[in-house]
Amino acid sequence: AKKAGRGQSRFFSNEINVRAQERLMFENALRDALQHNQLHLHYQPQMGLSTGDLHGVEALARWNHPAMGEIPPARFIPLAEECGLINELSRWVLHEACRQLASWRATGVPIPCIAVNLSVSNFQDVHLPSLIAHVLESNGLLPKDLIVELTESMLLDNTPGVMQVIEAIDALGVRLSLDDFGTGYSSLSYLRRLPVSGLKLDRSFVVDLEHDEAAQALSSAILEIGRSLHLHVVAEGVETPAQHHILLELGYPVAQGYLYSPPLPADQLTSWVQSSKE
Ligand code: C2E
Ligand code: CA
Ligand code: CA
Ligand code: CA
Repeated sequence: AKKAGRGQSRFFSNEINVRAQERLMFENALRDALQHNQLHLHYQPQMGLSTGDLHGVEALARWNHPAMGEIPPARFIPLAEECGLINELSRWVLHEACRQLASWRATGVPIPCIAVNLSVSNFQDVHLPSLIAHVLESNGLLPKDLIVELTESMLLDNTPGVMQVIEAIDALGVRLSLDDFGTGYSSLSYLRRLPVSGLKLDRSFVVDLEHDEAAQALSSAILEIGRSLHLHVVAEGVETPAQHHILLELGYPVAQGYLYSPPLPADQLTSWVQSSKE
């Protein structure tokens, strides 16, 4: 029996080894990607629902690995969080997004503002507010040019220090927006506790708008809450004209989704803006 037991544990430790090696490989690949410019940002427009005006763009990270191909952020963002690369990644995102906005402005492309996504570990970094201030200033941008999107689920751990960092970002004049609003159980309490100036109605409500009265009623109630708190409200994930019309009737001011445009590389977003002005 002893023999078999030993054999089994060797089998398990081999399997654990293989997983650990895979992870290490992936981790090294991400580190490489950060060093060798394999990460890119795509930009998705946010549209005025009644006017068709461009309200801003959201920057979304992309990783094109030379051998593994396109790796989605839903895979590499959690990895970056686990292996301690998320601060470096977010620094890059902030620099790149602000550099791109400044470059659009310099070439006369009218992009009103840019939204970036940050992760919970970023808010544990006491240097984040000064980094943001530095990145804005070095690109000749103002605090109102940047919006930081945060997901409520990421704040659940209630780490001390996070609140101070969020308040310091707000004090800079950079706007904070609650992402995926309505999906976490504490959405409403976050609206009270955090200095947010916007919320994004989660895509799961928009998907059901056409066929589900409850989704309509909740979307309408969320808009009312947002309005009564003077928040900028954006509906996410609009894919069909029917969803667009329902949101318009409910009074939603701004929306984002494949119906208007998928997230695009910077040069394609430029063409999209220029052709939609004509
Ligand atoms: P998110 O912030 O909620 O971003 C919206 C996601 O929905 C994006 O997926 C976007 O491409 C997708 N989307 C946009 N319009 C539509 C639509 O009409 N229909 C559908 N089905 N999807 C739509 P993506 O780019 O794969 O990003 C997934 C998530 O990864 C993001 O969710 C965000 O939480 C995270 N993420 C992306 N980039 C970054 C980043 O730079 N930093 C951090 N921390 N997280 C990021
Ligand atoms: Ca987002
Ligand atoms: Ca979202
Ligand atoms: Ca999300």
